[in-house]
Amino acid sequence: MAASPANFDYDLIVIGAGSGGVRAGRIAAGHGANVAVIEGDRPGGTCVIRGCVPKKLLMYGSSFSADAEDARGFGWKIDGLSHDWAALIAAKNAEIARLEGIYRSLLKNAGATLIEEWGRVTGPNEVTVGDKVLRAGKILIAVGGTPQFIDVPGMEAHAISSNEALDLPVLPKEIAIYGSGYIALEFAGIFNGLGARTHLIYRSDLPLRGFDDDVRAHIAAALHDRGVILHPQNTIERVTAEDGRKQACLKDGSRLEVDAVMAATGRRPNTAGLGLADVGVALGRQGEIIVNDMSQTNVPSLYAIGDVTNRINLTPVAIAEGHAFADSEFGNLTRKADHTNVASAVFSQPPIASVGLSEADAEQRFGKLRVFESQFRAMKNTLSGRGEKTYMKLIVDAASDRVVGVHMMGPDCGEIMQGIGIAVKMGATKADFDATIGIHPTAAEEFVTMRIARQDGSPDG
Ligand code: NDP
Repeated sequence: MAASPANFDYDLIVIGAGSGGVRAGRIAAGHGANVAVIEGDRPGGTCVIRGCVPKKLLMYGSSFSADAEDARGFGWKIDGLSHDWAALIAAKNAEIARLEGIYRSLLKNAGATLIEEWGRVTGPNEVTVGDKVLRAGKILIAVGGTPQFIDVPGMEAHAISSNEALDLPVLPKEIAIYGSGYIALEFAGIFNGLGARTHLIYRSDLPLRGFDDDVRAHIAAALHDRGVILHPQNTIERVTAEDGRKQACLKDGSRLEVDAVMAATGRRPNTAGLGLADVGVALGRQGEIIVNDMSQTNVPSLYAIGDVTNRINLTPVAIAEGHAFADSEFGNLTRKADHTNVASAVFSQPPIASVGLSEADAEQRFGKLRVFESQFRAMKNTLSGRGEKTYMKLIVDAASDRVVGVHMMGPDCGEIMQGIGIAVKMGATKADFDATIGIHPTAAEEFVTMRIARQDGSPDG
């Protein structure tokens, strides 16, 4: 690592101490760079402070009600089950504080300087923090995104976003959640599991646009069976507030009287107020920073990673982008972050996970496919009496036999899909799946025992 020119304070300034920024900062520091990381909020960013981690803790917290119902079929007598929301929030907050401390230590131990203020880009090599101007050879923007409210009367004034939903002083008895993406489904599971009457309002016919259509149909049915009240092909036209309650007026003329309306209608990149347009950085229609596959903007000294670039908005992707940036720019190890076949999970209840293409996308890309499906009642559900079915699907390119899409709805699918993701990434064929001996009895073994292709119904293999 060459020494910084004398007029630079740092080799690298990272704006944003979320997962991607911290990874980039500490790897660059490990390569010998003199690094400052600027953060005006709590280190940890969206994922640790107000996203993946607190959401999953609340998801676990809410899932015990279904576990308690299921336990009865196994002989447990459970009476007088009750839940203390304040206790859950306090425990969650303590864990978030612990993780924030770890993020601080990671930077410190790597030798990076954490500057706890808001920063603004004021030149290709310049970041202004308060009344101080800092100069660096390279600047990495890793400021993430923020919830977006739809422009509907009363929405922004009266609705909460996922930020507030994670810290409500009391659990709403009834809530209307707008949208049907990752966040809407995950919070529907949380509130429904904790006993709130939960409405899900969305404009499409099925939740999770972009996911495989069969999975979308199965999750809609499962949410309905678990008690979530679905309002498909509907929109919220107006939100009002009266006597501490909220009213959501829907397109179909109905009016929901609830304790909270939650907007889960997407997120937008956090570029407002960063000064990027003034220094000539090209932004996209939603304010996202446009970068090449080395995460470099059109201003050569400025780079961006993570949700602010609106590529694949997932924490592990931001981390991969940050790591590739630091290795390439400071470690003499030029490489691109690989955005293909990224597995992901929606922590709805039941959860969904997938890697690769939906059937519709695979058909468009490859033409002839072989599709394998399995739908069954998980063994645990036999004694519990829960009717919910697990759904699994393998999509195979008929010409090459390669598995190009894998989808699942059912318990532990996020854990299962991580391993399947390796196989898909390695280019596994259906024959490779068939040659793998299953672990019995598990649900996952279905992925290696599906023999009948759906479309022609003829035995396969
Ligand atoms: P999504 O993009 O997943 O979903 C947005 C939802 O808002 C969709 O249902 C969309 O409807 C709806 N919507 C958007 N605009 C309008 C409008 N004008 N009127 C009515 N409805 C509208 O965003 P989320 O906020 O749920 O999540 C943001 C991203 O964060 C995700 O895409 C994901 O990348 C990431 N994330 C990942 C998680 C995980 O890995 N488990 C968890 C949470 C977030 P339509 O489908 O009709 O467009």
